[in-house]
Amino acid sequence: MITQSDNRIIGIMGAMPEEIAGVLELMKDVTEHEIGMRTYHQGKINNTNVVLVFSRWGKVAAASTVTTLINLFKIKQLIFTGVAGAISDEINIGDIVIGKKFFQHDMDARPFIQQFEIPMLGVGHFEADAKWVNDAFEKLNGAIENKLLYHNEHPTYTSILKNQKALIGDIASGDQFISNESTRQNLIKHFPDLMCVEMEGAAVAQVCHELNIPFITIRVISDGANSNAPIDFAEFVSHVASKISKNIIKFLIT
Ligand code: SAH
Repeated sequence: MITQSDNRIIGIMGAMPEEIAGVLELMKDVTEHEIGMRTYHQGKINNTNVVLVFSRWGKVAAASTVTTLINLFKIKQLIFTGVAGAISDEINIGDIVIGKKFFQHDMDARPFIQQFEIPMLGVGHFEADAKWVNDAFEKLNGAIENKLLYHNEHPTYTSILKNQKALIGDIASGDQFISNESTRQNLIKHFPDLMCVEMEGAAVAQVCHELNIPFITIRVISDGANSNAPIDFAEFVSHVASKISKNIIKFLIT
């Protein structure tokens, strides 16, 4: 395990095992560490020290994983990738959301504090590193324009991904897979600027906020958070997610 004080050790967390498999192909000098039911892959991508791990699903799993990355592996920055359900009508399956603000949509300690406010912190959301977000936006849109992010290997996704784009937007997280229209509409009512929903990002954002680690979260849209979501999600993950995530990491760690 690296314990030297390298200021650039980057933690890479993926919320799907398929993504980890893709990113692992980019790594060199890999050693593996089993801790708390997770496998942490330590090594290098383009001469940058990285630690790659599958977060598992949900807020607690993701929070405990990022805490280990920070406290044990001494990462100094974090990239978190995964898939997500679309909330905004602006986005489609295959689009990429670079998270700006992160909300915990299932946090509700009323009547003591306002709905969605995080206990003890007095805030209703967390924010990703603004400079890194803008940098990722440029790099990923550049890669999309040059057709370098996803090659047309799968017939169904060739047309779906034709108009792929990367956007900066807000993300809500909660311990719930959203797959019906009324829950989706309820989220829009509470968070009008929401771009997508998932199950980990805002928990990771809270840990990074409390431990002062700059982070970005990149989510690829796998479904529309509607009744078709379980099918769209499963197909997207098995056919596309790992290839896109691998390329996202390739463009972000240069
Ligand atoms: N396939 C897993 C469950 C995955 S949970 C199993 O068999 O147990 C869904 C994952 O995709 C989470 O990482 C979540 O962040 C993301 N996600 C994608 N679409 C979502 C949606 N519509 N609602 C909530 N999370 C979603």
